[in-house]
Amino acid sequence: MTDMLPPIELHAPDISRWKDGGAGVDWVHAFDSGRTGPKVMVQALTHGNEICGAIALDWLLVSGFGPPRGTLTLAFANVEAYARFDPADPFPSRLIDEDYNRVWSDETLFGPRDSLELRRARALRPFVDAADFLFDMHSMSEACRPLMVCGTVEKNVAYARDLGVPGDLLVDTGHPAGKRMVDRGGFGDPASPKRALLIECGQHWERAAADVAIDALVRFLGLTGAADAAWVAANTRLPLPPVQRLVRVTEPVVAKSADFRFLVPTVGLSVIPKAGTPIAQDGDHVWTTPYDDAVLVMPGTRNLKPGGTAVRLGRFED
Ligand SMILES: [Zn+2]
Repeated sequence: MTDMLPPIELHAPDISRWKDGGAGVDWVHAFDSGRTGPKVMVQALTHGNEICGAIALDWLLVSGFGPPRGTLTLAFANVEAYARFDPADPFPSRLIDEDYNRVWSDETLFGPRDSLELRRARALRPFVDAADFLFDMHSMSEACRPLMVCGTVEKNVAYARDLGVPGDLLVDTGHPAGKRMVDRGGFGDPASPKRALLIECGQHWERAAADVAIDALVRFLGLTGAADAAWVAANTRLPLPPVQRLVRVTEPVVAKSADFRFLVPTVGLSVIPKAGTPIAQDGDHVWTTPYDDAVLVMPGTRNLKPGGTAVRLGRFED
């Protein structure tokens, strides 16, 4: 089955002028205010075809912003994959060898394995480990409201509530395929003062995703103390949602066969009211919802192989 491509409403910015950011590693910009304060890191292009984050960092760099206190590191991560972004075939440029956001355990980073993404993660690891506050900007393959992935720990949920955006928050149990950057070290340790958030700004190429990315980036810099309130007020561009609701992931749906297909629309955060509702045909297996009001978390079959996660299921907590 050939899927229709979603519309490509965003333009991937030319970031070539941002290659040398003075940090000693290409595509990393390091600002030091010379004053004590938070150590903040913001990353875009963890996945090469998630261009809203690149738009947001490009916007911030063009603005000439520098932190009034502490340090700020801005990183374009998987630039090699981004260079392959093709609006006519936009899905493959997510990654080159492997998922850059599944390699963040010490075992993997300091292990013998090699890949383009691992080399990049090894280069960026010192910046990630030095940060007190980490913000990772993403987008999603299917239609979905913006969603904050708070990792696995409640402290990051609380931090997302302090941030105030977006309206939907997610806490999970990590990814079985490998550790994410936001779960690494102190970021995933409940006792550490470090905080990390990963925002999914909407569908990859919908116009609104760029505004979501910029608005959330501005608010994040304000919350960490890396930006002053007046700058934040002047640069936010979306209203705060009236409430923030938390989805807690309970389980993944892992494809058993090569012919997995959904029996329900693949709209992220949609709610299936009744337990036992068939949601996917997987060879001769039918997946059903295990409880009432199951939430579909980032459903999708792009590049899905047996053993891959087709969707995760969760519940709204309130
Ligand atoms: Zn992503």
